[in-house]
Amino acid sequence: MIESCGATAVPVRRPAELAAVDGLILPGGESTTIDKLTRMFGLAEPIKERIAVGMPVYGSCAGMILLANDIADPALDRNGAPQQTFGGLDITVRRNAFGRQRESFETDLDFAGLDANPDTAEPREPVHAVFIRAPWVERTGSAVDVLASVRVIAPAAEREPALVAGGAPAARLAPAARIEETTRAVAVRSGNLLATSFHPEVTGERRVHELFIRMIRGEA
Ligand code: GLN
Repeated sequence: MIESCGATAVPVRRPAELAAVDGLILPGGESTTIDKLTRMFGLAEPIKERIAVGMPVYGSCAGMILLANDIADPALDRNGAPQQTFGGLDITVRRNAFGRQRESFETDLDFAGLDANPDTAEPREPVHAVFIRAPWVERTGSAVDVLASVRVIAPAAEREPALVAGGAPAARLAPAARIEETTRAVAVRSGNLLATSFHPEVTGERRVHELFIRMIRGEA
């Protein structure tokens, strides 16, 4: 995808390879594994240092989780220690928020700030997005722009008071009323950090990567 956008792509596995790149893509996969391996191979601290000095980073799916400052439901290792992130992006993500592998889905998204698709004449064609055990964004800090969202049906149970004032039992809502429609951010940007819950690279959609390359070149 990077090469088809006219830039050079190299795999980054070691600190010396990280030192040689202008920007970094944290791919999809499994955030807990990427967390463990980057710490094991001495890459986690150099990545955090480069993020701190403004290296452009694009995280998709597991990569979004790794860029998040906070995880709502982090996985715990055998000793009960929560998974870690590189952080830098002031968001809270929920892992596997849409469900498990078989709840993976595709949808069209209105994505702010993208150029017209160069292969068609249509301006601002929606982004066809593939979500695979994807996270969503539950909180965004004030410096974070939401570029795309999805509408979801979410349980409203946490808003339902168990007791009304005075200790009388709360009026029970009908089960259907305990569900509410809401929106969740699935693409965000803050400064040089870009993250999507979904995988644009699996559909041939180039515009998200083009945006990232323009960010590296200081053009976006
Ligand atoms: N569920 C994975 C995680 O928590 C992410 C899945 C993906 O990258 N497609 O890391």
